Amino acid sequence: MAILTTRPRGTNDFLPAETPRWQYVERTLLSTAALYGYGEIRTPTFEHTELFLRGVGDTTDVVNKEMYTFTDKGDRSVTLRPEGTAGICRAAIENGLLGDALPLKVSYVFNCFRYEKAQRGRYRQFHQFGVECYGATGPVTDAEVISLAWEGMQTLGLKDLTLAVNSIGCPTCRAEYHKALRAYFERRREELCETCRERLEKNPMRILDCKSPVCGEIAKGAPRVLDYLCGDCRDHFEKVQTLLKDADIPFTIDAGIVRGLDYYTRTVFEISVPGFPALCGGGRYGGLSRQLGGPDVEGIGFAMGLERLIMVMEQQGCDFPEPQQCDLYIASMGEAAAEEAFRLTTQLRREGYAVQCDLMGRSVKAQMKYANKIGALYSMVLGDSELQSGSAQLKQMATGTAKPISLAHFLPEFETEMQNGWFAAAAEAAEKIDR
Ligand code: AMP
Repeated sequence: MAILTTRPRGTNDFLPAETPRWQYVERTLLSTAALYGYGEIRTPTFEHTELFLRGVGDTTDVVNKEMYTFTDKGDRSVTLRPEGTAGICRAAIENGLLGDALPLKVSYVFNCFRYEKAQRGRYRQFHQFGVECYGATGPVTDAEVISLAWEGMQTLGLKDLTLAVNSIGCPTCRAEYHKALRAYFERRREELCETCRERLEKNPMRILDCKSPVCGEIAKGAPRVLDYLCGDCRDHFEKVQTLLKDADIPFTIDAGIVRGLDYYTRTVFEISVPGFPALCGGGRYGGLSRQLGGPDVEGIGFAMGLERLIMVMEQQGCDFPEPQQCDLYIASMGEAAAEEAFRLTTQLRREGYAVQCDLMGRSVKAQMKYANKIGALYSMVLGDSELQSGSAQLKQMATGTAKPISLAHFLPEFETEMQNGWFAAAAEAAEKIDR
């Protein structure tokens, strides 16, 4: 393998032809979050390894098997973030954001790293959009966060979205539930996969999340957490459902959703499309901030994987905005004309037009071919005769029609053209003659 010209497995290059789609998706999601009062946060790509051991939980696959951990030159163990929540909670504590002015509402778009078996839709470097809200414990917050995820995905035009919600209770009611779950799985211990046999000791709820078909089948008959909720947790969950109904957000209750983090409490949810379960997943968590040495503040958040989101949008034929096009290509012949082309190009760019001129020293024919290739709307050729006469031909590429334009008054005349000028009028006149 040519290692110098091959990217590491599970990573992607995002080429200029694709990045406008990414920018659009990121902008749309971040501005939806801004409508809900969420400001963007950016945290380091790597953190102390201990943060993820404590913050994600050492019974999760993410921490056990998938972390990119290395020792730096100062002999410290650092890890590329496998998810966003732990780093954000650390940043919130360190910067004193959990002290007052709660709730704290933050949104993010960044890369995450997991050493997973790379395949379509599963990468070792991937990107997430997500939010975290700290300090608000009531059901309205849960409904607001779910609504934000839902509306963000709706705004992107995703179709056939389904929202599934569940409550996994608080540590008090979960203790009872764990007991019942352990008893149930203990009876089927021999049939469980090796990982789930370990989970049985450490955290039996994780078995409900197992991807193996055998464990999945066994999990179907397991006790349901909803039957073990304490009164407070039941009230909370019922209120969340009422609020979602009031907001016209359709949902189903899925007792199988347990989510990966060790600290989830009460509401958990997933948004899926057919063929892509859990495109977005999130929930409420307690204990994380305290576990990291911060105040006792609850959080709730979600994350969605952007690679998968964009893949689904493309499959579903969702609209993406057109990327910025080239308004004008100025071709030139000779040194003096090339200088004038550069001067005009600079002037027009300052006015906000996307303009290009030759950088390759090509023939005019080759320059025009290039103008065509980049999809320039207009083109113009400058040579000695145009410089002498002070006038050139402005050509509309789509129709091939051209009209003279003054070099001395180029900007105002070009501006008029761009704002529905001569070409549009000519096209209209031609249409009238046709009729
Ligand atoms: P999680 O933190 O595991 O709940 O993941 C949140 C979202 O990130 C998921 O719903 C996926 O859409 C996405 N995701 C997780 N792992 C990967 C991966 N290896 N490659 C691409 N997307 C991922």
